[in-house]
Amino acid sequence: MSNKTEDLIERMTIDGQKRALVVMAHPDDNEFVCGGTVALLSSKGWSVHIIVTTSGNKGTQDPSVTPQQLAFVREQEQRHAAEILGAEEPTFMGFPDGYIENSNELRGLLVRQIRLHRPDLVITWDGFRSGFNHRDHRRTGRATYDAIYPAADDHLYYPVHKLENLSPHRPSVLLLAGTDNPDYLVDITPVMNIKVRSILAHESQMGGRTEAMVMERYRKRAVEERSDANVHNNQDNEVRYQESFRVIEFG
Ligand SMILES: [Zn+2]
Repeated sequence: MSNKTEDLIERMTIDGQKRALVVMAHPDDNEFVCGGTVALLSSKGWSVHIIVTTSGNKGTQDPSVTPQQLAFVREQEQRHAAEILGAEEPTFMGFPDGYIENSNELRGLLVRQIRLHRPDLVITWDGFRSGFNHRDHRRTGRATYDAIYPAADDHLYYPVHKLENLSPHRPSVLLLAGTDNPDYLVDITPVMNIKVRSILAHESQMGGRTEAMVMERYRKRAVEERSDANVHNNQDNEVRYQESFRVIEFG
C-alpha cells in the first residue's frame, strides 16, 4: 500500500472533512462491503448517509412473498443496520431490483443527493471490475462515478436543483468497494463486532445465522488471507480484519 492512501481517513478526519455518502444497490451491500469502514467513520465523529438505489425486492425462496412485502422488510432491515453502524437514516431510491440503468434519471437523483449532503468522501461499488458482479452493482457504481464527475460540481448540469437552493459540490475522495484492484486497506478490527451485528440486522437474508457463526466465517477468511504472501502480513499472530478499496482523489 502506498503512503498516500495509508492514512487517508485519518488525514481527512484531522482536516475536518467528516461527511461521507455511501451509494449501494441493495439493502445489505453496505454492511458486507464497507460496514466496518462506516462504523469506523462514525466512531471518529463523521456523519455517514447511506443511499440504496433499489429496495432489494427480489431474492426470496418464499413463493407467497410479493415484491412490495419484501421491499418493506428489507428497507426496515437496512434502517436497523444503519442505526447499528451509527449512520443516518438511509435514503431509498426505490428502483426495481435487477433493473438499474446508468440513466439521466439516476444520475440526476445522485447529483441532487451529492449537492444536498455535500460529502467529502463517497463510497460506492467498483463499476469497472472485471470479475463476476451483479449488474445493479456495476450500474450503481458507474452512475455514482458519473454523477460526481463532471455533473455534481457544474451548475449547468441539472439546473433544476437551483430551485431548492442546492449549489454545485465535488467530494475530495471516492472509494470504490468490491474492487479487484485495491490500493487502500482499512483496518476494521476494532469495529468488526459492529460490522457483524449490522450484517445480522438483515434477518431475511441471514437465515437464522448467529453472531458467533458469522464471526467465525470472517476469522477463517482472515487467517487464510494472512497466509497468502500477496496480502498484508501481520507480524504478531493476532487476526486483523480489513476492507479494501480503490481510491480516486479529486483535485
Ligand atoms: Zn447487492
